[in-house]
Amino acid sequence: IASGYPTPEGVVLWTRLAPEPHAGGGMPQATVEVAWEVAADEAFRKIVRRGTEIATPRWAHSVHAEVPGLAPAHNYFYRFHAGGVTSPTGRTRTAPAASAAAERMRFAFGSCQQYEQGYYTAYRHMAQEDLDLVVHLGDYIYESSWGRNHVRKHDAGEPVTLEEYRNRYALYKGDPDLQAAHAAFPWITTWDDHEVQNDYANDRSQHLDARDEFLRRRAAAYQAYYEHMPLPQRMQPRGPDALIYTRLDSGGLAVFHVLDDRQYRSYQVCARPGRGGSNVIRADECPERLDPKLTLLGPEQEQWLHDGLAAAGARWNVIAQQTLMAQVDRTVGEGRSFWTDGWDGYPKARERLLGFIEGKSVTNPVVLSGDVHTFAVADLKVDFDRPGLPVVATEFGGGSITSQGPSQKQTQAWQAENPHLRYANGTRHGYIAMELTAKRCTARMRAVNEKEPDAAVHTLAAWTVEDGRPGAQRGA
Ligand code: FE
Ligand code: CA
Repeated sequence: IASGYPTPEGVVLWTRLAPEPHAGGGMPQATVEVAWEVAADEAFRKIVRRGTEIATPRWAHSVHAEVPGLAPAHNYFYRFHAGGVTSPTGRTRTAPAASAAAERMRFAFGSCQQYEQGYYTAYRHMAQEDLDLVVHLGDYIYESSWGRNHVRKHDAGEPVTLEEYRNRYALYKGDPDLQAAHAAFPWITTWDDHEVQNDYANDRSQHLDARDEFLRRRAAAYQAYYEHMPLPQRMQPRGPDALIYTRLDSGGLAVFHVLDDRQYRSYQVCARPGRGGSNVIRADECPERLDPKLTLLGPEQEQWLHDGLAAAGARWNVIAQQTLMAQVDRTVGEGRSFWTDGWDGYPKARERLLGFIEGKSVTNPVVLSGDVHTFAVADLKVDFDRPGLPVVATEFGGGSITSQGPSQKQTQAWQAENPHLRYANGTRHGYIAMELTAKRCTARMRAVNEKEPDAAVHTLAAWTVEDGRPGAQRGA
């Protein structure tokens, strides 16, 4: 069970009927009626809404019930009934009304949860926090087995077909700590590459598979994603296309602009011979990188983001997206090199976005990112090579739930070479707990030992952004 995409009036409730989750679901080729209930209390004495949905084999007997008519900024409990069985109970929370002067908002964000590389200890602790919302920035599943020191194993090879992707979600979602974090709070989610394939870009696979073949795979992967996430029905994919970028309001305090930087992007520049996907390239050997036609969001989403940033009346503009936005020159000393899968592969697109934010004086922009498996804090500038320029936005990189990151030596070199990168730690794993008030935004990096299911959590570092003053300050 899960819930997601809270509005002031409602929330999406999700479940999937799958008595044999690791073997395609185990349901008959027939539709099944699923009843849902929403109550004000955990004992379901005060039921405030109920309804039914039809679970179909076409969508793996998943349910995406859009509950209307709830009160803003309230906690609710929910459960499902089907075939004489009652689900566990989940708790969720609606968003505050747009007109409400919400005093405080708390949310956590995370990404990158390679199943083999660690337990979901981070989620066990996240479920115990006092949160209004969880934001997931992608790599919810990994298609491939990789990395060192596995604590558990994928039960199958790389998924390509719909049934194989479904089974991979079933494996990940069987984890009780992940289930607890879903049952505790509503989530909003976006995907990165590993929900389909490492480093894919738009309709191009990293192996340069035939386009039609890759789009069939993308369609299977997108469908399985929809079937396993608490997404609203409007995000249901059509073939290989799914519109999942969206905007959520949290009272007058925050607007969340949730991006999709995979589906519409230009291909990565200067790939290795005979391959697609990422590369680390020397800047002077890849002038194509500076082509202003390169896009990470695609023209429509880019325009949509600009419009939304210009119109937002909230105190904080939270841009929830996949990969590190700050420039990271990876060559120590003379010469510069960049990794082409992140914003560093699309520098003119980044300049357009940050230039727009500066030009329109967008209120308190805070960028959340995942992907690089590194807890990071960065001051974002329109041109990172001109140290005198003002800071226009603040970035927090959420580390990874389990996926292994760069060594301390690597992140120290990044920081020495890139002074706007204020903090970087790829050796620890967990999530960031955020608190927003009218006066400040506080980020607490919550770290665990992911190799131990019972490990304690502690705050690795805390950083603050003050209202009206872009740029991070150390401390809470
Ligand atoms: Fe990742
Ligand atoms: Ca350099």
